[in-house]
Amino acid sequence: MSVLLSDAAGITGRLESALSGLAVFRTAGRQGFTREVFSESYRDSRQWVADQMKAAGLEVRRDEAGNLIGRLPGRNPAAPPLVTGSHTDTVDGGGRFDGVVGVLGALAAVQLLRESGTVLARDLLVVDFLGEESNPFGLSCLGSRALAGELTKADLARTDYSGRTLAAAYTDFGVDPSTLLGFGGWTGRRRPHAYLELHIEQGPTLEARGLPIGIVTAITGIERLVASFTGTPDHAGTRPMDDRRDAMVAAAEAVLAIRSEGCGAPEHGVATVTRLENASRSPNVVPSLVRLYGEVRSIDESWLWGTRRRLAAEIAARAAEYDVEADLSWSTDNAVVRASDSVQDLAGEAASAAGIDWMPIPSGATHDAVHMAALAPMGMIFVPSAGGKSHCPEEFTATDQIAAGVRVLADTLVRLDSHHFSVRPHAIQRSTP
Ligand SMILES: [Zn+2]
Repeated sequence: MSVLLSDAAGITGRLESALSGLAVFRTAGRQGFTREVFSESYRDSRQWVADQMKAAGLEVRRDEAGNLIGRLPGRNPAAPPLVTGSHTDTVDGGGRFDGVVGVLGALAAVQLLRESGTVLARDLLVVDFLGEESNPFGLSCLGSRALAGELTKADLARTDYSGRTLAAAYTDFGVDPSTLLGFGGWTGRRRPHAYLELHIEQGPTLEARGLPIGIVTAITGIERLVASFTGTPDHAGTRPMDDRRDAMVAAAEAVLAIRSEGCGAPEHGVATVTRLENASRSPNVVPSLVRLYGEVRSIDESWLWGTRRRLAAEIAARAAEYDVEADLSWSTDNAVVRASDSVQDLAGEAASAAGIDWMPIPSGATHDAVHMAALAPMGMIFVPSAGGKSHCPEEFTATDQIAAGVRVLADTLVRLDSHHFSVRPHAIQRSTP
């Protein structure tokens, strides 16, 4: 067993104190450990993260897109670098582990490499990507999108609830938005050799199977649905039940149809209605215009595309029973992104060499890895989430479980360092959400 994979004393202690150190940065008066992108607490926390990177022996810089990057020099700085990392922003009311584990875990992996005397041939870049979580501008993964050259002029013109543009938010945060469009930091000749991200699972599968490590096979595709139901407004007290065109009832039928589509999905497929809006606020009017918002997720493209057809037919048929018109529109928020077979194989070998049990697992959440996959062979390592909970203050992963993930991360990076990829990724087709 390599030094890297032996039970290195000190990882758990260091992780423990780093996790508590970062958790101090939270927005006062908000639930949980809130540290949203562009906020004061986020700004302060990133200075702390930069200091942690320096303490781990990395050369630290902030790139033009606001990503924090720590570099561990390799023997051949001209070779395409290895990249690992994640994010340190949270959702409103978020927890202490989502994203954070991938940044602080990467620093722990760097320390393991140094302590074991391992010097990589390539540079290793540890990235704290800017703003991965969803935000009031409706655009997630800001930093990784910019690196992949996917940020558009229309994105920068997006506004939050107060009418402030994303471009203005960047400016206030000290990032010049005019440099972002042509940035595409790591596209073309600057593509990395490979990207590997350690992350909490955010779901219940690993815990339920009693397994410490998941090696991600693919990241879910997301199809979003907006359905409008049009009936006739009528007096709710006088119009007989058999003579109504009630848009709410048709929408309710659609909620159930979408749920049963999700229940009949192949493994890891889900379908959810997230919002219903009634155009009328009157308590005594038969609803005549109701809008439904939903999403369907799976790593099975054929099932995902099939849901569009099946739900269109089912929802229209049920609405027709109530003489209500149904109008559906779909958009692809994220195409299914597959992890590189080679990265999966090497991570599996690393886990097995350390005597750590693992399983292949799909990711039902999206990550910076989605955008990095357009640039380099991509892989992700999952560690369990207690109770499958995430995006809430109760989010928890035991430090020894994170340490197991760090050991697999470090050894996989060593294996990737000398690996020759025969298949490189090509640009991923993605529609604008
Ligand atoms: Zn995350």
